[in-house]
Formats: sequence, C-alpha cells, structure tokens
Amino acid sequence: MIKVENLVFDYMTKRALHNISFEIKKGSIVALIGPNGAGKTTLMRCLAGLVKPFSGEISVNGINVPEDSRRAHRHISYLSDVFGLYDNLTARQCLRYAALAFDLPPAEIEPRIVETAAMLNLTEHLENYAGTLSRGLRQRLAIALGIIHRPAFIILDEPASGLDPEARLELSRLFVNLKEKGHTLLISSHILAELEDYATDVIVLNAGRLVRYEQIGGNTVVSSQNPHVNLTIRVKGSADQLFSFLQNENCVSDLHRRHSSVGMTLWGQDDRLAALLKRLIAADIAVVEYKTTQSALKDAYFETLKEGD
Ligand code: ATP
Repeated sequence: MIKVENLVFDYMTKRALHNISFEIKKGSIVALIGPNGAGKTTLMRCLAGLVKPFSGEISVNGINVPEDSRRAHRHISYLSDVFGLYDNLTARQCLRYAALAFDLPPAEIEPRIVETAAMLNLTEHLENYAGTLSRGLRQRLAIALGIIHRPAFIILDEPASGLDPEARLELSRLFVNLKEKGHTLLISSHILAELEDYATDVIVLNAGRLVRYEQIGGNTVVSSQNPHVNLTIRVKGSADQLFSFLQNENCVSDLHRRHSSVGMTLWGQDDRLAALLKRLIAADIAVVEYKTTQSALKDAYFETLKEGD
C-alpha cells in the first residue's frame, strides 16, 4: 500500500535521509522510532507530500506522492508534533471547515462530524471554542480534523506528547480502532512501551538511515532472527535453589537475581518455556510465578543502535 524506494532528502547543508526503502502493508500500525535528529519528521513530511525528496520514489495507494501530492493528500493525513487550530471557531465549526476543505459531499458533512466526534470522545465539546479546550482535547480535535475524510494512511508525529495517562490510553484505543477499520498508521513516539501496545511493525531510523524494519506482530514477542523472551520466575522463599538450577540451563542467559525471583532472557519460544517449567517442577522448585514480558520494540531499538556503534 505504501512503497518507498531509495528515498534521499537533503536540507541545504545536510543529507537527512540516505537511500531509505520499505513497504507498509494496509492495516499496519508502524512505530517509527529513533534518536533525536534521526530523520523521523523529515521522513514523515516526505511521505505526506509536504516536501519533495532529492530523489527516490514514494507511492501511496498507487499514487506517486512527490509528483501528484494534491491527489495524494486526499488519501493521507499528517498531524505534526506542533500544530495550530482556529481558536475562534468551535470544535464543530473546525470539523465542518475541514470537511469542506476535503470536498466531502454536503449531505455527508453533519453525519461525518457526529461520527468523528464520537470516535474521539469529543461529542460533548462540539460547541466549545478550540481556544478554550484543554491540551488533550486539542490533540483529539486535531486528530479528528485529520481523519474527517477517512484517509487510508494516517501519519502522526508524537501524538501522545503532553497527554495524561488516561488520554494516552484512549489514544491507543483509537489507533487500534482505526486499524480495525482498515486504516494504516505510521506513528512516531519516544514512548516505546506505549507503541508496543498497538504497533504491528517497527521502523528504526538512525542518522538518516533505516537500520531496522521488523514486524513485531502487535503484542507478540517475536524477533525474527533470535526469538527470545524476557522471563521472570518467582519462587516461595529464597531463590538460591532456583538460581543454581538456572545456571546449568543453556536456554537462558543474563540471569539477575533478587530475593525470591530470578529474571533472565530465555532463548526460544513457547516450547522452550513449557519445557523449562516442567523441569523446574520435576526438580521440586516451588514456582509461584512464571512471567514473560514484552520488549520486542525496546529490544529492536537498543540492539539496533548498539549494532550501529
Ligand atoms: P526529533 O526526534 O528530535 O524530532 P527527528 O528524528 O524528527 O528528530 P528531523 O527533525 O527529521 O529528526 O531531523 C533530521 C536531521 O535534519 C537532523 O540532523 C536535523 O538537525 C536536520 N534538519 C532538520 N530540519 C532542518 C532544516 N530545516 N535545515 C537543516 N537541517 C535540518
């Protein structure tokens, strides 16, 4: 659905993107991560057709974005990390203005405003002026304005910044909801744990280069080359016996001991997990908790940056 080939972008004094290529499938939520200055915003602005690359191809739904950016804008929504609203218009007026700007048929405008406001939990704020809304509500209104025309591809730069935990959770739910409706999302954020809740794929950029593109499967712990999980085992009482036992296991590494638990990396997936638990019980170790944690995204990020050093 989205295809990027050999994308190069130059600022006057600096090459910001070097030969980037990737494809995004319809219905994915792609987390775009990387350190400050990696080129995330530049890449998003290229994908949204707001700036022209020096060379390379970008297509969204078969439309050549740099060549035909006006047509592409009907299929793409881009929310910048810093955005403005018409503070002297009510939320309803802002939405109507956006709907008219996107050429929605007049009969569809009011129902679409109602539907979009409901999706963003904005219904009871429709008659409030944008300038009087709280930060979280402004963020939701900005997203609503960007999706009123139901674009196929939604690009969001740091959409959760400055939001409280409840608003963030609502936003995560909205992203999953949009994905379920068939939209494709590209979201940049520095909050990896949150992206991990909903992202299906991850792109890691570093110094203008794509250093990793991996499916993280939306909540499953899969690293394609070296499948592993973070495992914590807690026992009744002291972890002495457990720790000695694990030191002789070759499917685990990075053991770190606490009073009654041991954390580790287990190399393998479900079969290995089940087999290890069976051996622990056979060895009469009183396991009271056996817990894996997801860290596919964090792993992808830090492993990749380490590899680049
Ligand atoms: P952050 O996480 O801090 O937002 P980013 O990954 O979005 O960073 P970009 O803003 O895309 O990174 O910047 C990529 C590189 O291009 C950086 O080195 C930045 O300094 C440089 N850059 C960005 N805008 C310009 C500009 N207008 N002129 C020259 N260089 C620029």
